[in-house]
Amino acid sequence: MNKVFELPQLKFAFDALEPAIDARTMEIHHGKHHAAYVANLNKALEASPEFFSMPIEDILKGINTVPETIRTAVRNNGGGHANHSLFWDVLNPGGKSAPSGALLKAIESAFGSTDAFMEKFTAAATTRFGSGWAWLVLDGQKQLQVYSTANQDSPYMDHHIPILGLDVWEHAYYLNYQNRRPDYIKAFWSVVNWSFVEQQYEKAR
Ligand code: MN
Repeated sequence: MNKVFELPQLKFAFDALEPAIDARTMEIHHGKHHAAYVANLNKALEASPEFFSMPIEDILKGINTVPETIRTAVRNNGGGHANHSLFWDVLNPGGKSAPSGALLKAIESAFGSTDAFMEKFTAAATTRFGSGWAWLVLDGQKQLQVYSTANQDSPYMDHHIPILGLDVWEHAYYLNYQNRRPDYIKAFWSVVNWSFVEQQYEKAR
C-alpha cells in the first residue's frame, strides 16, 4: 500500500487557527516536527520493509511484533506520525463547535456532561508531566475514556481508538504561550472540529 509513509498535506492554511494557534507554530509543527517523525519512521522501517504495506494504526496495534532493534524508533516516530495526522483533522476549521447526536449521548453517559468531559480532558492535558498527549478514546469495550500518554505513545498500542487528541509538547505552543500550557489548552477548545470527532467516533464504534 505505502511505498513509504508520507507527510499528509494540511487541509487548511497555517494562519487558519489564529489567534488560538499561530501560523508560525503551525508551519514549524507540521513542516518540521511532523515531517521529521515521518522521515525517521521511514528510515527505521528500511530494516523491515514489509511494514510499509500496513496502515500506521495497525503497526502501532502490533508494536510488539516489530523487531526489537527498531521498536523504539517505530513507537516514537510511528506514534508521532499517527498522533499528528489525527491532530490536524481535529483542528481542521469549519466543523461543529460542540458535540451532538450519538457522541454527545456517549459523552453524557460516560462523564455526565460535555462540560464535565472538558474538565476531565483539560486536567489530563494540564497534568501530563513533560511531553505527551491528552486523549478521548474508545476503549476495547467501546467505552469512552479520557487519559494522557507520554511522549508519542499512541492509544492504538493499547487497542484503543483515539477520537480526539491534544498535543501538549512544548513545540505545540511555546512560541505563542511560552510556559502557559493552560492558556493553550483553553484556546484549543475554540478550534476543535466536532464534526470530525463525531465521524471518528462513528467509525470507531
Ligand atoms: Mn507535536
